[in-house]
Amino acid sequence: LYNQVQDLKGNIRVYCRVRPCHHNQTSVGNIDEGSISLIIPSKNGKDGKKTFTFNRCFGPNVTQAEVFADTQPLIRSVLDGYNVCIFAYGQTGSGKTHTMSGPNNPTEETVGVNYRALRDLFLISEQRKDTIHYDIRVQMLEIYNETVRDLLSTDGVQKRYPFSVLTKIRNSSLNGINVPDANLVPVQSTADVLSLMDLGFKNRAVSATAMNDRSSRSHSCLTVHVHGKDLTSGKTIRGSIHLVDLAGSERVDKSEVTGDRLKEAQHINKSLAALGDVISSLAQKQQHIPYRNSKLTQLLQDSLGGQAKTLMFVHIAPEQDALVESISTLKFAERVSTI
Ligand code: ADP
Ligand code: MG
Repeated sequence: LYNQVQDLKGNIRVYCRVRPCHHNQTSVGNIDEGSISLIIPSKNGKDGKKTFTFNRCFGPNVTQAEVFADTQPLIRSVLDGYNVCIFAYGQTGSGKTHTMSGPNNPTEETVGVNYRALRDLFLISEQRKDTIHYDIRVQMLEIYNETVRDLLSTDGVQKRYPFSVLTKIRNSSLNGINVPDANLVPVQSTADVLSLMDLGFKNRAVSATAMNDRSSRSHSCLTVHVHGKDLTSGKTIRGSIHLVDLAGSERVDKSEVTGDRLKEAQHINKSLAALGDVISSLAQKQQHIPYRNSKLTQLLQDSLGGQAKTLMFVHIAPEQDALVESISTLKFAERVSTI
């Protein structure tokens, strides 16, 4: 019954989150449970207004715990054998990493969705331990310029960090594992996961020295694979959750950037557009779903569509100078939404 209730809500959900304004020139008007308005200034002094509707909207004062409360049912369904994808979308600085990971050195109150999701997975698997035995394993990948890196690799011999290696997607889908060559690390507790995430962040930072703040120009994906065995029937359950902090969605001015920066921008635009195309064709229940157009959609192919559940957090920076990006973010979000 539980999953039936969830299914009625549809498999694609879009939540909008607005972070606090860094000064008082805001472009965000009214925010209520299911809609958000942007104030569009006009030259004649009469400001316009554009309202967007989503499954949920979270204003700047909404806490991490409140945001997670609406995410929690998806976490439970992973242990029931569903594949789940949670995305953070938005321009650089709009709060994607805050939602997924929290601020640097987060407290119990400020930890993000990733940590809370893992904590729930361990908690529920513990509650079910007399009937189902769960094996929980984690991968952490980065997609940068259409190449995939394993963020949990060490240099093997000396276990020296940081060290990240290129790896490949193989959609042969052996037990639902699309990147079989990347490390798949068994975890017993949230402490295990935190130390892996720390390794992942260190590995991700390696390349950041060459090009500062690469994190905003690559997608990072924390994947949790869950394998359950029913102790009485012997039946197995497989579920997974992908927690994806996407590259910044801002458009770069092509007349101003060249070389590596231009190439990065083109790869990001292409992969975010491909993700939008896949989700919107799923939302419209189209026959052909264009998974092959980017590494990101290839990686997540088994977890987008079918019985899988998708949650997209779109992030808005409320400052007036971000208005053009905010409109384009909300248009993207409307396109992938089913409401
Ligand atoms: P992104 O990952 O999209 O580039 P960040 O998550 O790094 O953006 O957020 C940019 C800044 O705004 C950070 O300093 C972050 O701590 C802060 N911030 C983002 N969202 C919130 C929020 N909901 N509440 C308070 N601070 C936030
Ligand atoms: Mg970030």
